[in-house]
Order: sequence, then structure tokens, then C-alpha cells
Amino acid sequence: MFKQNKNNKNQYLRLIGSIIFIIILIAFVFCNIKNKISYQNVQIEELSYSSAISTIQKGDISEITFYINNSEEVRLKAKTGKEYEVTLFNQGVFYEFIQEKIENGQEIKINKIDNDYSIFNFISDISCVLAIVLIILLIAYVNNFFKTKKEDKNDTKQCESYNNQQNTLPRVEITQVKETKTEQSKSNVKFCDVAGLDEEKFELEEVVDFLKNPEKYQEMGAKIPKGILLSGAPGTGKTLLAKALAGEAGVAFIHASGAEFVEKYVGVGAQRIRTLFDQARREAPCIIFIDEIDAIGSERIEDSNSVEHNQTLEQLLIEMDGFETKNTEGIVVVAATNRANSLDRALLRPGRFDRHILVHLPDVKGREEILIIHSRNKKIDDSVDFKKIAHNTSGFSGAQLANLLNEASIMAVRNMHEKISKSDINSALKKIVVGLQKSGQILSEKERKLIAYHESGHAVVSLFMKTQKSVKEISIIGAGDAGGYTWYETAEDKNFISKTELLAEVVSLLGGRAAEKIFIKDISTGASNDLKRATDIVTKMLVSYGMDDVIGPISMEGEYREYLDSGEYSFLLGKRTKELLCESEKQATRILQKHSIFVDELAKLLLEKETVHGEELYQMFRAYQNTYAETNNV
Ligand code: ADP
Repeated sequence: MFKQNKNNKNQYLRLIGSIIFIIILIAFVFCNIKNKISYQNVQIEELSYSSAISTIQKGDISEITFYINNSEEVRLKAKTGKEYEVTLFNQGVFYEFIQEKIENGQEIKINKIDNDYSIFNFISDISCVLAIVLIILLIAYVNNFFKTKKEDKNDTKQCESYNNQQNTLPRVEITQVKETKTEQSKSNVKFCDVAGLDEEKFELEEVVDFLKNPEKYQEMGAKIPKGILLSGAPGTGKTLLAKALAGEAGVAFIHASGAEFVEKYVGVGAQRIRTLFDQARREAPCIIFIDEIDAIGSERIEDSNSVEHNQTLEQLLIEMDGFETKNTEGIVVVAATNRANSLDRALLRPGRFDRHILVHLPDVKGREEILIIHSRNKKIDDSVDFKKIAHNTSGFSGAQLANLLNEASIMAVRNMHEKISKSDINSALKKIVVGLQKSGQILSEKERKLIAYHESGHAVVSLFMKTQKSVKEISIIGAGDAGGYTWYETAEDKNFISKTELLAEVVSLLGGRAAEKIFIKDISTGASNDLKRATDIVTKMLVSYGMDDVIGPISMEGEYREYLDSGEYSFLLGKRTKELLCESEKQATRILQKHSIFVDELAKLLLEKETVHGEELYQMFRAYQNTYAETNNV
């Protein structure tokens, strides 16, 4: 059962209740005013004392009202309904006269009232005023209700289905999403508003299905995701993805930022976490989005300054463990960070943030799609070529591309153009790029070429090393600290790794530096991490695994460290490490020189597309092998 439906039902019940209440209040006010008007409309005539006495004697009076606080006046009501005001000389004498008449059988009703303006009048006036105020408030509530519903309707965009989007660029209008701070709101963002990021969206689709049909998963006893960690550079669309997840599933979106839980006083952060999850339980099914989770999720340190931080993090762990194992509550916590490495291990354990999605910077195709999405609500001149702009904005995040178009529209206004022209975009680009160049964020053409050859070097060497893992993707778009990356398929679980496999990995790692030497004719700092990893592997081979013929089958780890201090082994270790690394580099160089045509082809494709997927790479590789075999008569 979705609580969201219950919420909607409650909202409508409240609305109907309010309308009925308004009607009752209006009726009350109306009656009250009517009484007052009719009371005031009664024609009261002044009657002299003697005329009053004779009228009473005639038996024409049916009702007499005495005022307790005013003994000089009395009000008479004739049988005809007409009323008279009489000034008395002596109330006692008049009263006795009336009593006598009544005793003699005349029918006269006697009323006594405290004052003309009685307490009842006062209460009735006050309740009338209160009722009017209540009516105004309720009308404002009802009006607001209809306005919100109307906005919701307008905001519901006619998004094309996500599947269609896989082939064609989305034809949707982007609407601005209202920002919320630790507040629940309905997200109108859909997956089709998020350009590129196909793999990331694909991973989230299952979660959408879970949020829509939790029963299906519960019946199957399936393990339901509780926490998803989105990691990636700022502006890559992590928040947008989380909103789209909520939008697709039609559930509430609760936005919080890690920094909001960072407090000086012990216990305050933890209390805020409790409040956040209590709110989520009321709004379930829902998404809790915690931006910059590293602010509360970084590794715990046991010292007196970290008590508040540790308590806050522990409270988050407790709350996440608190969902039932089957997560029938329908709460999914999505967290975003650009420093996933700094997170406490406990956060990443099963049942917590056990799904980790890497949100990449967009490649050239992704950038073009983002530009198209963000140009929907702008007037763009025909001269603007988004493909070309995408090529010139390598390394830009989605947020930077959105900002580029915004800057361009400001330029267009400044230049009094009717539409955003090519020159407006170029001026905006220049403004942003100069800023980025200062902060070292943008790559020059020379750097792109260096990275393209470096990554091609890794990939091509791997392809020729039989025991190396398959390449999944190569890219020249930065990820984390790296300028580019060669991503391998995850290795199958293995208990043992052979010497051949370890050496193949070392040769592949050195393929990047070797390619720089051959194709760029220079070497760069970009290989530092490769060198470290290669040296680590070789050192382990010699020190721990006894894999070197010259050093012999000896362990120099732990209690046997003394061998290293003996001088002889220490010298030998240094010598053999260097020899093995140099041999591996030579092997990589030989492969790359022999297949330089293929390296060139791959590097050029990388420069053009920025990311090459495994399938395309292996297709190219097979075609190359066939031509190579033909030309070399192999
Ligand atoms: P992050 O949370 O990763 O820092 P955001 O999701 O806040 O980034 O992105 C900021 C803005 O950049 C978004 O609101 C959107 O306008 C734009 N943006 C980023 N990535 C994309 C994308 N893939 N498609 C469309 N717009 C994007």
C-alpha cells in the first residue's frame, strides 16, 4: 500500500471538510447579521407614560421588557408586533400596576434583561468576527490547494519515454525544479531531462520499479536497495539524477545537505538525522537525498574533537539499519559525493550504501545532448552548431554547459540580438574557458593528444597480452585525479594469480608511458600513478611471493624483514625491481612500435569521440588483425 495515495486522500478529505465548514460559517454569519438587521429594523416609537398606561389597560400589550440597569425606561410590545419605548417616573409603581393587571387575568409576558448590549450580544458579535476571519483563512487554503494542483499539472511534462530516448535526442521542455532544503517536495524531473548518463540511468531503473511496485519484490523475497551512492565531479548531474529517480517513481523527494548536520555541540547532528528519517517515514515511499555526504560520512577518528562527527555518522548508520531488511517502508537513501574514497567503510557495507554508481563527466555526445536540453527554453540562432560546441567543451560538466548557455543568453541581451548567436556563445565560452584555464580545469589540444596516446598505449598493450583482462572502456575525459582512463572488466574471483598475469599487468601499466615516448617524443607526469602501481606489483613479486629467479624463492616480509636490512638483499631487490620494470617497458614499447598504425587509429578515434567502448575497440582490433595478417603474410 502506498502512503502517498493515503496522503492524497487525506488532502482531498481536508479540502471537502474545509468547504463544508466554510458553508456552515457563512450560514452562521448570515443568520447573525440578519437578526441584527431585523432587530434594528424594528420601528420603536416613543410613547408617553399616560398613553402607555391606557394602552395596557385596553389589553393591547403582550410583552413588557424591563432593563435591570436602567430603571427609567421600559419597552412594550403590542399584540400587533409594534414596539414602544416608555420613560418611567417610578419603576416600582409601574411594576405593581402591571402585576395587578396580570393577577386580574391579563396576558402580559414580563422580560428582564441586564442591559441593552448584553453579554450574549457581545459573544455573538465576537463569534461573528471570528467566523469571518475563519472564512477568509479557509478560502485562502482552498485557493492555494487548487493553485498547487494546477501548478503540478502544468509541471507534468510530456516526456518521451526513456526507451525512445536511447535512439533519438529527447524532445522535451525542461522546467526549473524548485529547490528544497530538508523539505519534502514532489519532483517533476524525469530521466529524459537528464542528458547522456545512460548507464547511470539504467542502474537506477530497477530502483524506480521497486519504488513503484514494492510488493512485487517483497513477494519474491528480493533484497531491496536501501542506499545508493552517486560519486562524481561537481556538476555532473548527481542531484538531477536523484530528482529524476523520485520523479520517475512518483514519490516524494527529501533534500538534505551533509553540511547541515555538521554541528559544534554533541548530539545536535544526530538529532537532525533522526528528524530527517522521521520525516521520511511520514512521507514514505520517498527518496532521501543527502548531498555532500562526505561532510558527515568521512572516516571516524577516535579523538575528543570528533565525538559529534562520530555520533552523527553512527546515527545515520542506525537509521539505515532501522529499515526492515525487506525495506517495506519504501525509503531509498541516495547520497552524493565527489570524495567517495574518504567515506567510512561502515557506510559502504551491505544494507547501507551498497550500490555505488560513478557519475561520469559527459563525453562529446553527452555534451551535445545536454546543450540541446538546455537550449529548449532559449531562442537560438540557426548559425549555432551544438556538435561543434560539444567538441570545443571537452572536460565541461553538465552544470558548466548549462551555465555556458545562460552566459550566452546574457551576452545576446547585452548585444541586443534577437536570438542567441554563434558569436554570443563564443564570447561566453571564452569568458568561461579563460576562468577554467586559470584554475587548470580545461585541457589544451596538446594535453588531449598526450592523454589519447597514453590511454591507447595501455589499451593496445593489454590487447596483445593474453592474460590481461578485457578492456571495457577507454576515455580521455578526466575521472577523479586521472586525465583519462582505461577501464578493465572486473576480474573473475581468483584465489591465486600467476607470475605471467602479474607481469602482463605491469607491461600494460607501462604501456602508457611507452606510448608517450614513441608518439609524443616526450614523457609527462601523467604516468606517475602507473609507475607506482607497477613498482608495487614488482616489489610484491620479489619480496612476498619469491617469484624472481635471481633473488630466489624467499620471503622478506614481516618477521623476515631483516633480510632486507642485510644490505645484500636490499641491493639485489633494488637492482631486480629496476630490471624487471625496464624489461616490461621494453616489451610494451616493442608491442606499440610493431602496431603503431593501430595505436594511431585508436588515439585519433579517442580524440574525436573521447570515449570508446569495449565492443567498438574489439571490432577495430579484429579488423586490424585481419589487415595485419594479410599484409604480413602471417
Ligand atoms: P551535482 O549534484 O553532480 O553537483 P547537479 O545535478 O546539481 O550536479 O547539476 C547542476 C545542474 O547542471 C543541473 O541542475 C542541470 O541544469 C545541469 N546538468 C548537469 N548534468 C546534466 C545532465 N546530464 N543533463 C542535463 N542537465 C545537466
